[in-house]
Amino acid sequence: MKRPLLTTLLLSLLATGARAADNVPATPASGIDTQYIDANVRPQDDFFTYLNGKWLKTVDIPADRSSWGTFYQLRENTQAQLRDIAEADRKNLHAKAGSDERKVGDLYASFMDDKRRETLGYKPLSAELQRIRVLKDRKGVPALIAHLNRIGVATPYTISIGQDAKESTRYAVYVRQGGLGMPDRDYYLKADDAKLAATKATYQQHVAKTLALAGDKDVEAKAAAIVAFETALAQAQWTKVELRDPNKNYNKVELAALPALTPGYDLKAGLAEAGVASRVDYAIVGQPSYLQAFDKIVADADLDTLKAYFQWQLLRAYSPYLSKAFVNEDFDFYGRTLTGAAEIRAPWKIAVSTVEESLGEALGREYVAQHFPPERKARMEALVQNLLAAYRDSIGHLDWMGEDTKKQALDKLAKFSPKIGYPNKWRDYSRLAIKRDDLVGNVMRAQGFEYQRNVDKLGKPIDREEWSMTPQTVNAYYNSRMNGIVFPAAILQPPFFNMAADDAVNYGAIGAVIGHEIGHGFDDKGSQSDGDGNLRNWWTEQDLARFKAKTDMLVNQYGAFEPLPGYHVNGELTLGENIGDNAGLEIAHKAYLISLHGQPAPVIDGLTGDQRFYLGFAQVWRNKSRDAQQIVLIKTDPHSPGQFRANGTLRNQPAFYEAFGVKPGDKMYLPPDQRVSIW
Ligand SMILES: [Zn+2]
Repeated sequence: MKRPLLTTLLLSLLATGARAADNVPATPASGIDTQYIDANVRPQDDFFTYLNGKWLKTVDIPADRSSWGTFYQLRENTQAQLRDIAEADRKNLHAKAGSDERKVGDLYASFMDDKRRETLGYKPLSAELQRIRVLKDRKGVPALIAHLNRIGVATPYTISIGQDAKESTRYAVYVRQGGLGMPDRDYYLKADDAKLAATKATYQQHVAKTLALAGDKDVEAKAAAIVAFETALAQAQWTKVELRDPNKNYNKVELAALPALTPGYDLKAGLAEAGVASRVDYAIVGQPSYLQAFDKIVADADLDTLKAYFQWQLLRAYSPYLSKAFVNEDFDFYGRTLTGAAEIRAPWKIAVSTVEESLGEALGREYVAQHFPPERKARMEALVQNLLAAYRDSIGHLDWMGEDTKKQALDKLAKFSPKIGYPNKWRDYSRLAIKRDDLVGNVMRAQGFEYQRNVDKLGKPIDREEWSMTPQTVNAYYNSRMNGIVFPAAILQPPFFNMAADDAVNYGAIGAVIGHEIGHGFDDKGSQSDGDGNLRNWWTEQDLARFKAKTDMLVNQYGAFEPLPGYHVNGELTLGENIGDNAGLEIAHKAYLISLHGQPAPVIDGLTGDQRFYLGFAQVWRNKSRDAQQIVLIKTDPHSPGQFRANGTLRNQPAFYEAFGVKPGDKMYLPPDQRVSIW
């Protein structure tokens, strides 16, 4: 068996690109990393800072990052492993033409060929820029959007394929709002927020500079018009909170009825150009009022502004693959201004990400063969079954839920399908052409390949073996249409999952992650779908009202957190994740108790089992972000910042109070009637 990866920081090693070395001490059997404990902070007052205080004070965010912490270290370690794979493939010129290894090596090589990129400048985009330049009138816009959407360029609306939310056994076409160059509509609209307003002004300069690099004229005026156009789109767009309502975002429209929705804009022609209109009778429109507004915005915009906007979005999407001037200008806004990073990531890191995005499962197959011992899968399968059993037990004993709803909830739970490590069936890339000397073409073809792969699903049975994350991703997800939970290989490492450690830390870390993902099936959004993946209310009115009362308390608790002066956590945007954390940790603790079979837990490193359980949970959330990035996250990320994922979750857990002797007057203390326990 391979050694598990390390729980300790490897900043200096990572900075030189070196990998986890063998001369690092073995992980302690408790699995708790105590070196950063700040003895000046009481765990009863601020558990997160108690455990991580010295780290918060002494460790700087690396210059090329906007956030740093345990999650990010693990991602960085994984990236280095992926680099070795891609480098080996690049050098292996004997790999069969058309094989996955050859494609990985060729794509990586095409990215790293900076000489060629300098010579080409923005020439690889000439044909696409020309396609936009010759746009004669607004009638051409639907076809242009269909094309740009296919090659991964942001467009005012997106066309994508997914399971029909109310008929999950068939694939459907979705049309949703899109097309902004900044992370959220607030960046366009909140003129009273000085930071956001300054970012908007810098964005406009960035648009002008990028257009100038591509040889455009009159760029200042064009940039102003583009930002005004995007601001109009932003004005009409739904907020991120509104986008979380699955029923409001489900609007089935027969293709024949589309002209009534956007009388001036031929959306139906757009869907025909996108290659989907002949395959379906209806589309699911996410935000009808937005499309109606878009109809008018396009009609009012002058043709030159539309062209400039589409050219800008094309350049924005492909700048990372052009010459240095574009790469640096792109970093200047999206890295430096928007997230506060000081340095651009090393080219190999972006190259690895590019291979990851285009040939993710080809890279993943090699990653799994080298870095995922089968023992991890077996132990993880047992953990998942224990968590499901604990949920079953817990739902059966809920005091706030009636029998009818319980029956439905248990039915949903019984239909959960877990996936661990890597897919049973790997993606077939044989129809994707990769050329060693054509980076932009490679990325464009990869985008087109992925788009077509999805369009080809229309009319076919649901592919239940498909994964939405690659195995080398340090993350996990719940898919409500599949009612499935997925744990990629790369998250099954310390500090999430430690093969060398006692159970307590594993239940507190990966156990809480499993509980969190199952919890998404029963969060404010997931609970609106049933076990077959259909959006359908299975709640009695009374039980739904009780559930809502509990989740409203979480909205208020998290809304009070203020990670930056003047910027509060959005309690509604983060509600689903906070429910996941709340339920995940409580159920993981139940599962841990079940695993002890009535025996007392051993004391290790002077820590009781319950103490290790909660410390294991909190060390996963050790992270920090630069201020600019923190604002991006507050506006866009449905997850609360790490410190509140730790403290905000812990203070609702009854057993936490006992484990650390939390008493009235302590800052972590909540009176019992204010604690939230849902599942
Ligand atoms: Zn989540």
